[in-house]
Amino acid sequence: MPTITDLTVRDIRFPTSKTLDGSDAVNVDPDYSAAYVVLKTDGPKGLEGHGLTFTCGRGTEVVCAAVKALRYLVVGKKLEELTSGMASFWRSLTCESQIRWLGPEKGVLHLATGAIVNAVWDLWAKHEGKPVWRLLVDLTPEQLVNAIDFRYITDALTKEDALAILRANASTKQQRAAELMEKGYPAYTTSAGWLGYSDEKVRRLCREAIAQGWTHFKIKVGRDVADDIRRCRIIREEIGWERKLMTDANQYWDVGEAIAHMKLLAEFKPWWIEEPTSPDDVLGHAAVAQALAPYGIGVATGEHCQNRVVFKQLMQAKAIRFCQIDSCRLGGVNEVLSVYLMAKKFGVPVCPHAGGVGLCEYVQHLQMWDYCCVSASTQDRLVEYVDHLHEHFEDPVRMRNGHYLPPVQPGYSIQMKPASLNEYEFPSGKAWQ
Ligand SMILES: [Mg+2]
Repeated sequence: MPTITDLTVRDIRFPTSKTLDGSDAVNVDPDYSAAYVVLKTDGPKGLEGHGLTFTCGRGTEVVCAAVKALRYLVVGKKLEELTSGMASFWRSLTCESQIRWLGPEKGVLHLATGAIVNAVWDLWAKHEGKPVWRLLVDLTPEQLVNAIDFRYITDALTKEDALAILRANASTKQQRAAELMEKGYPAYTTSAGWLGYSDEKVRRLCREAIAQGWTHFKIKVGRDVADDIRRCRIIREEIGWERKLMTDANQYWDVGEAIAHMKLLAEFKPWWIEEPTSPDDVLGHAAVAQALAPYGIGVATGEHCQNRVVFKQLMQAKAIRFCQIDSCRLGGVNEVLSVYLMAKKFGVPVCPHAGGVGLCEYVQHLQMWDYCCVSASTQDRLVEYVDHLHEHFEDPVRMRNGHYLPPVQPGYSIQMKPASLNEYEFPSGKAWQ
């Protein structure tokens, strides 16, 4: 197996704030960005591992600095050393004896960990000649649990619990993989409902999305209740009542405000309210969940949930009806696997967070693995889809009729085109001149 000979990181920023793509109640002007990691190897044909962590523009240089601080733990390692002891490799990053003080397992440091860990999975999958979801499906239950650090979650999920879940699905997993190849995996769209869009643009985008076969629509809410009522009415007029509507407040409210605001939107029958309040407020989410349950509105969160421990508490406290893992806010594939398995045990469907740049490319792999090996169901499960920036990837997502089609190329689908990397590198690229 190859040896990792170098790790580089680049600050890549797309000026999306110019068009208000991605605008919501809190992130009013994001420039979708990434700390972009490449692992170079001595393997055949320039074999490389690519990984990124998503950011919103300013501050990406801080994440790049954190990646550089962790670099020494990866360079010089044989790929086999990492893949045969994935959980201990993962812990070597998250529990580095001095750097750990900056986290632990949260914020900038964990974003950096996600980029590096995902690059290792990309490298492993490319070395095996498989897309990451296939690599995951083909691993045995024992190999999968050996990739997970169970520290801090054994009160909710033990290694034995995880093995039991995976073994129960092992004999039928390839059948479901074949099914995915044919049908794809269901998705929902956030593209029509950004807060900065005009009413006319929202209407037009809804019509286009319906024509493309979309059945689930999410809009941004939170700032102004009259404005939200108007926008929800517009969307319902366009999509009707058969299709589902979801709402997303991006942490804008206090707990009481969230409850009061959503009661006023209840007439539009939102399926969920996403990120009603601070991502750290487990008991606050539980209070919102309890108050809104009689209205049929579920609570969803996760894109800012910092690690498996907070997800554990959200589930233990019955604070979420939908779990929205983020592929690189958590510390990469390894930690994500543990959250999927906990969600299965607690009976909470996972609907991963996507959009940004590269997040759709990432999460399709995770959700397809979930379908094959963990939940064995698409009931109440959808992957978010946003139609921005896919053109910069070598192996972008492929959509058909509101479904993700399974990736077939080796790797984690996250490798960007060299020309895009050069053009959007900050501050030297042409896009920033
Ligand atoms: Mg969101």
